[in-house]
Amino acid sequence: MTDPTSGTRTALVTGAARGIGAAVAERLAADGFAVAVIDLDEAACKPVVEVVEKAGGRAIAVSMDVADEAAVKAGVERVVAELGPPTVVVNNAGVIRDNLLFKMSTQDWDTVMGVHLRGSFLVTRACQGYMTQVGWGRIVNLSSTSALGSRGQANYAAAKAGLQGFTKTLAIELGKFGVTANAIAPGFIETEMTMATAQRMGMSFETLRAQVVQEIPVARGGVPEDIAHTVSFFVSEGAGYVSGQVLYVAGGPKD
Ligand code: NAD
Repeated sequence: MTDPTSGTRTALVTGAARGIGAAVAERLAADGFAVAVIDLDEAACKPVVEVVEKAGGRAIAVSMDVADEAAVKAGVERVVAELGPPTVVVNNAGVIRDNLLFKMSTQDWDTVMGVHLRGSFLVTRACQGYMTQVGWGRIVNLSSTSALGSRGQANYAAAKAGLQGFTKTLAIELGKFGVTANAIAPGFIETEMTMATAQRMGMSFETLRAQVVQEIPVARGGVPEDIAHTVSFFVSEGAGYVSGQVLYVAGGPKD
C-alpha cells in the first residue's frame, strides 16, 4: 500500500540532540522524511539539523521537555506548522538515575517515569490524531534489555518494561487506522548514557565496554546506527504488518 501522506512525510524524534536519537533523526531524513529534531535544548539540536541539511534533507530543531504537557502541545503545534503533521513518532528521549533500591530517591523514581513513560504518553497522544486522520502512521518506542531486570535500575527497568505494554496497547488501539506501534529494546549501545554508566561504576568506558562485549555473541558493542537501522525498518512501508512487537537489538538473543 502506498503511504497516503507521501510527499509531506514528517517524522518527530525525541531526545534527538545526540546519541541514538541523533542517529535516528539523520537516518529518517536520509529515508526521505522531514524530521523534527526534539530535545530539551534547541541549540543542542542544531548540529543534527545541519548534518541533515548538508545531506540535502529537511529538519528543524525544537526544544521540548517531553514530560511537560504544555511544552509537548506547543512543540507538536510548531512541528505541524513548520514541517507538516507528524505521521512518524520515535519516543527516544531518556534519562538514567541509577541506584540500588534502598538508596533510590523518590525524585529519581519520578524523573525516570516522567521522561520515559509520561513523556512517551504525552507525545504519542499529541500526535496520534494526525496519523489516524490520514490512515497511516508509525510509532517506535525505545525500550531496553533492562526491562528484563537490571541491578541498580529499578526505576529504569520498570519504565522500559512499561513502555512494552504501552507499545502493545497502541498497536491494538491504532491498528485499524493504518498505524503500527513497535518497541526496540537495545542492549549495550555506545553513547553518553553508557559513558555515564561507566563513570557511576568507577571505571573507564573502555573497561566497561571490554567487560560487556565478552557477553555479547556478535563480540562488539552496539552503535547508534544499529538502532537507527531498526527504526528505519519499523517505519518503512513494507513493515505495515509488523505491529506490537518488541525487538531486542543486543547482538544476541534476549528473553
Ligand atoms: P543519551 O543520554 O545519549 O541521549 C538521550 C537524549 O534525551 C539527550 O539528548 C537528552 O537531552 C534527551 N532528553 C532527556 N530528557 C529529556 C526530556 N525530558 N525531554 C526531551 N529530551 C530529553 O542516551 P542514548 O543512549 O542515546 O539513549 C536513547 C534512548 O535509548 C533512551 O530512551 C535510552 O533509555 C534508550 N536505550 C539506550 C541504551 C544504550 O545502551 N545507550 C540501551 C537501551 C536503551
